[in-house]
Amino acid sequence: MRKSALLFLSVTVMATIPSPVWAQQEEYPIIVVPTGEGPFTFPQGYQTPWDQIEIMVTEKMSPNLFVLHGSQGLDRGHPDASGGRVMVLFGPDGVLLVDTQNRQVADKTLAAIRTFTDGPIKVLVNSHVHSDHTGANAFFGNQGALIFAQENLRLDMVTPRRPGGPAPTRDPAGIPVVTYRWDPSAPGEPAITLNMNGEIVDFIPMMPSHTGGDTVVRFRNANVIYIEDFYRNFGFPFAAQSSGGSIQGMIEAIDLFQIIAGPDTWLIPGHGKLIRREDLLPYRAMLVDIVAKVTARRDRGQSLEEVLAANLTAPYEAQGDTQQSRDRFVRAVYAEVRDFPPIVNGRRAMP
Ligand SMILES: [Zn+2]
Repeated sequence: MRKSALLFLSVTVMATIPSPVWAQQEEYPIIVVPTGEGPFTFPQGYQTPWDQIEIMVTEKMSPNLFVLHGSQGLDRGHPDASGGRVMVLFGPDGVLLVDTQNRQVADKTLAAIRTFTDGPIKVLVNSHVHSDHTGANAFFGNQGALIFAQENLRLDMVTPRRPGGPAPTRDPAGIPVVTYRWDPSAPGEPAITLNMNGEIVDFIPMMPSHTGGDTVVRFRNANVIYIEDFYRNFGFPFAAQSSGGSIQGMIEAIDLFQIIAGPDTWLIPGHGKLIRREDLLPYRAMLVDIVAKVTARRDRGQSLEEVLAANLTAPYEAQGDTQQSRDRFVRAVYAEVRDFPPIVNGRRAMP
């Protein structure tokens, strides 16, 4: 009954709005390949078979703003879809990329881009330092991309992992060239705004949240923001604290999104299903609840083992949960309650 009423309504609306407007507002996003839902299991010692992973156009956000993602069921770290999402803005001004996927699938990522544009690869912005988002940076740098990122991301790439230790071996072609900082006095303000291919693209530095060098990328005309990994709907939250991440910062990031995103803005996580800003709220409530419970227990003198054993995340069991994902989350909250080291050169010296 309800369905037929809705259908009638949409037909009426369609008849009264000129068709180009209709196409723009109603056609996108086009979900080409939905993310996998699992459950996924992997044998012990499983290694990701990179040669079997495909990189595909999975979502179209506007006529010239596409999203790439990998196959489901093969990548143990990201079983719902391999690697981190890549966004591609294309047209006469060339190609702008958000993130570059894993190094092992660089050729396939470029091949997927070449199915819809021959334009030169001009600009690359990294949402955060993790290898499923920056792995093919050098490959795309060598294609001609000028690489943008937060200064902390660049520092995290080049700073030794331990004091006095060797610097990570990184191909210089993959290291960001244009850097900017998170400014606590101007939350949500773009550090860089580009006009390309009919879009206005904002690189918005974020507070230390998923890492200390996060950037979200807003496409104003398409009304889309790539929100990377401070939010996830597959497994429990992940703050990469040694790379400057912070659980508290993830809560602040969600609050900022209630301001910088509109109710109809599509938010594109690095992994998992596309969401709207209201979908961030239950996630925020869970974060606040777990932080309060872990804080109370740590203040009472409980050890990390005791807090883990309390299974505080039980009310929030969700898709993609694993013991590893649960424990990593609670461990991060516990570490942040006290003696939380500052970010130095893009890194936090976590115990
Ligand atoms: Zn990711």
